[in-house]
Amino acid sequence: MEGLVQIHVFCAGPSSFSLSSALSDHLKKRELDEARAIFDQISSPTVHLCTKMIAGYTESYRLGDALKLFEGMPLRDTVCWNSMMKGCLDCGDVGVARTLFDEMPQRNVVSWTTMINGYLQFGRIEVAECLFREMPTKDIAAWNSMIHGYICNGRVEDAVKVFEVMPRRNVISWTSMISGLDRYGRSDEALFLFRSMVGSGVQPTANTFSSIITACANVGALQLGCQVHASVVKLSYSFDAFVTASLVTFYANCKQIDYCCKVFNENTCKNVVVWTALLTGYGSNHRHEDALKVFSDMIKNGFIPNQSSFTSALNSCCELEDVERGKVIHAAAITQGLETDTFVANSLIVLYSSCGNLKHGIEIFKKIGEKNIVSWNSMIVGCAQHGAGVGALTFFTQMIRAWMDPDAITFNGLLSACRHSGMLEKGRRFFKYLSRCKPMELKLEHYACMVDILGRSGKLEEAEDLIGNMPMKANTKVWLALLSACRMHNNFELAEKAAKCTFNLDPYCSAAYVLLSNLYASASRWSDVARIRGKMKRRGITKQPGRSWLTLKGLRHVFLSGDMSHASTDKIYQKLDWLGEKLKEVGYVPDLRFALHDVEDEQKDAMLSYHSERLAIGFGLISTVEGSTITVMKNLRVCGNCHSAIKLIAKIVDREIVVRDSSRFHHFRDGFCSCGDYW
Ligand code: ZN
Ligand code: ZN
Repeated sequence: MEGLVQIHVFCAGPSSFSLSSALSDHLKKRELDEARAIFDQISSPTVHLCTKMIAGYTESYRLGDALKLFEGMPLRDTVCWNSMMKGCLDCGDVGVARTLFDEMPQRNVVSWTTMINGYLQFGRIEVAECLFREMPTKDIAAWNSMIHGYICNGRVEDAVKVFEVMPRRNVISWTSMISGLDRYGRSDEALFLFRSMVGSGVQPTANTFSSIITACANVGALQLGCQVHASVVKLSYSFDAFVTASLVTFYANCKQIDYCCKVFNENTCKNVVVWTALLTGYGSNHRHEDALKVFSDMIKNGFIPNQSSFTSALNSCCELEDVERGKVIHAAAITQGLETDTFVANSLIVLYSSCGNLKHGIEIFKKIGEKNIVSWNSMIVGCAQHGAGVGALTFFTQMIRAWMDPDAITFNGLLSACRHSGMLEKGRRFFKYLSRCKPMELKLEHYACMVDILGRSGKLEEAEDLIGNMPMKANTKVWLALLSACRMHNNFELAEKAAKCTFNLDPYCSAAYVLLSNLYASASRWSDVARIRGKMKRRGITKQPGRSWLTLKGLRHVFLSGDMSHASTDKIYQKLDWLGEKLKEVGYVPDLRFALHDVEDEQKDAMLSYHSERLAIGFGLISTVEGSTITVMKNLRVCGNCHSAIKLIAKIVDREIVVRDSSRFHHFRDGFCSCGDYW
């Protein structure tokens, strides 16, 4: 490096001008030691040059070096003092900054504002307020600092007060208020403020535009947003990336996806924020294939995805249940060092656990540096879905130990864990805790879950009492939970009551009709069965057909019960018939008493082996490598017969078969299911 300095000196001659420009060059490149070497060659550096060197140090967080240089200066002006003070604040040392502020011989507005900003930045609002009051002459920048500081610390009301009393306002004051109000859910006031701003003749900047468009997006103010868009075009702000990104989000939120693409295509200087806005926009409009295409186009065009791009893309994979593409995106996140990022990792957990792989979810969870409430909740909910009750409780204990405050979603997860693992006492305890300590958080889902827990354990009266004492009106989910329980325990009287309440809320609830008719069928009350079926027919209610699907190489294969339309139909049926023989050999007999839920018609004996999930499994068996896991999704609950059959099939073919039905995950392996026949 010595040589480099020599070259500079040699080329330009040792004039102080060329030295100082070489110094600036090094500072720009953050080559502090090289810069210092040049600095030391200058015989009597000006205050300006010293200040530059000091700023260089503090920008690279070398506060010690900066202070040493500052203290050794024979002459210091206010600019230099201010710069040193700001440097201390940037390096996080408020104490030293304040000492300098107190010691400096002459303060100007910048000194005051810098110190006030420093306190605000570290959340020490009272001290900042004190200084602000003492400040001899306040300029707009000082007032704006207070507004900005209040907003950053979540004290919007105080910001409003300052805004109202400040003697003069500029566009920064207005913009801070607009974005601040919007950020804290007061978007309507933000819109109102924007109108007053325009009314008072203040010209909006790019920041103002992106803030107001974001506010329009948050409340779906299509008309105003379009007007703002017109002004954006008129005032030539359409080339600003942040304005464009907010416009894309705005049109996406207003469900105008075509306009999103138009805005996106018209903008010539796209950055990662603009790309991500389009990606997220497609996702929020349920156009997940398009979203993933944007993600890959973005990479093809040389843009490196950020945290939000990854989260959105992973969420789209999750919605498409496409774990294969999710894995590719996961790999890309690893190369960007974002695998352990809280938000990206949370999306990965949800993706893996909702696509059947809880273990992968747990591995990701362990790697997260800073786990937030969503991380914990995703684990607890994931365990619940997979029937890993003990796992859910363990994560909950760890969560409490980590001083994380559980919320409504946590309890939802815990209760559904209890529900899927048959833990009556634990369920009661969680519910009691929730209703005593967080009654405001108690939601209909919690009730539906608790009714289910009680009902499955045969505590039908207690379940009925619980519904009777609800502070809000029970919905169909709550009544259906009770009805299912009645079906399970053959309680006709209560079942009829629950069905009646369900029909009062939704006369076309097919699940309730099916449950009721199955209940009668189980007691051979055929005339009642016929009555229910007749009613369904008259009202035009058709049973939701059973549908199962599996995704192979990014392609989703959907099967209906007895389906013959798939390209590989012959091979699938061959495989199933072969399995049928094998099942007979191991002594499997279809069990007709098992028709518990809203399942596919079990009366048709011949159709039994061709329920949709069996077709999907058959297809999985003929199209994947020996020994690999087959994951099948289903829209209804798995029927009892299929459940027993799949347990044996898993053993016969020696594979793990994962089935996610409308209620939970079943992991079939070696003749057993992870649900312990409890679902
Ligand atoms: Zn079945
Ligand atoms: Zn099971």
